[in-house]
Amino acid sequence: MGNVISINPATEEVYGELDESSDSEILEKVKYATENKEWGKKSVFERVEIIKILAELLDLKKEELARIMALEIGKPLKAGRHEVEIAKKRILDYCNFVPEFIEDEILFDSQIERNIAVFEQIGCVGIISPWNAPVFVSLAMIIPPLLCGNNVIWKPSEYASFTGLCINNLFDNLKKLGLPWSSFQSLIGGKDVGRKLAESDINMVALTGSIKAGKDVIKTGAEKLHRFILELGGKDCAIILKDAYVDGAARDIVKSSTMYTGQVCFGVERVYCHALLYERFIEKCVEETKKLKVGDPLDEETDIGPFSVKFQMDKVFSHINDAISKGAKLLIGGRRIYDKGYFMAPGVMVNVNHGMKIMKEETFGPITPIMKFYDIEDAIKLANDSDYGLTASVWTRDLIIGEEVARKIEAGTVGINRHGMSKVGCPWGGYKQSGIGRIYSKEGIREFCNVKHVWVVKN
Ligand code: NAD
Repeated sequence: MGNVISINPATEEVYGELDESSDSEILEKVKYATENKEWGKKSVFERVEIIKILAELLDLKKEELARIMALEIGKPLKAGRHEVEIAKKRILDYCNFVPEFIEDEILFDSQIERNIAVFEQIGCVGIISPWNAPVFVSLAMIIPPLLCGNNVIWKPSEYASFTGLCINNLFDNLKKLGLPWSSFQSLIGGKDVGRKLAESDINMVALTGSIKAGKDVIKTGAEKLHRFILELGGKDCAIILKDAYVDGAARDIVKSSTMYTGQVCFGVERVYCHALLYERFIEKCVEETKKLKVGDPLDEETDIGPFSVKFQMDKVFSHINDAISKGAKLLIGGRRIYDKGYFMAPGVMVNVNHGMKIMKEETFGPITPIMKFYDIEDAIKLANDSDYGLTASVWTRDLIIGEEVARKIEAGTVGINRHGMSKVGCPWGGYKQSGIGRIYSKEGIREFCNVKHVWVVKN
């Protein structure tokens, strides 16, 4: 019997058990990765050719991964397949962009001297991942350091260990096709395994997870002065200006706040809507929410599965109950459904304010809380009244005003008439407590490199 237990959130039955990586196993893997640098000696173009094969191997495992995610974290099959597809695309995009991002850069060249920035690997990068999008989020963080020539040791979430095993098997297959064994290794376990990795002799920690874990991992890695990238939580807002296309905004916002049962770091968690559109907007949000089918993740028709873990469901209901006790009103949903499993009917909530947890703390559930505003400056103040700053969106037909508002919002990605994640080539990361560092863009990829200045004096 293993000490990492996975519960199927739709049935509340044990899905499987695995043994946690021991301290000695972690240290052995770190030693192996730090002593063997074969991967880093290949050119970036050789690395790209090998990593491209991973994208194909991933595609072959799409059905298997979607099924594991359905059983392990309650993700509906169609959402799981989509996640694998976007992960494959992300790998290929990285393969296209990374060689250019890390090629030598001539800083200045004159008759007297030539200055070059050279991007070299850091060494061994420890990657710690969350459970909510265990294929996409993990691979989106694993591939850049690998393409930059680093070795990687990866710890998937303890709530997505079987998804992690399946990804690890893909890498094992890739090792038979040219990836050195020391370049990628994985671990199983929870935060103690993450801590042990963070305090080891690796050179960098890249964690995607909660703010709490981010703060802790900095303390753990401080002794070794590791480098960090932290991609943390969000309390992302959408601002609906008085000239927005209200129907389209409501449709996209409800989709964003309920996707993966609301367990998405960049999902809309709070909405500020101009008073002129307010009644129409909330009516439309209710209409869109009614269309969502909640149910068995293995059912092809299901839009929304259960919460992936019980503690997540408990947190969401604590936010809803806190808001109701302070005067908020549910227009639809927001309650537990079915006899078995961690299911919730997606909700729309009004009469909310910043005295409520649902407007201030990351909720991570399928609920859209909406607050009315009269003046744009007030909406911007509300948007920025947060410890978080991952993403935001502004909805308007006036793209000039939209851009002006976007520039005033304290968040890493601000969409105008869209809410979502950045693509490769554009930076991704948080303002304030939503994170440290960036990924996806040139500057983000270069975070996985040591930058060397080569200074040639021409005598
Ligand atoms: P979590 O912080 O509980 O765990 C994340 C990972 O860190 C897990 O593998 C966990 O075992 C490990 N961990 C936890 N505490 C640790 C510690 N003290 N030392 C070392 N490792 C530790 O987060 P979660 O519940 O798995 O994921 C949800 C969170 O992740 C949400 O806050 C969400 O917004 C965030 N997230 C952010 C992004 C992003 O791109 N910014 C993407 C996805 C998820």
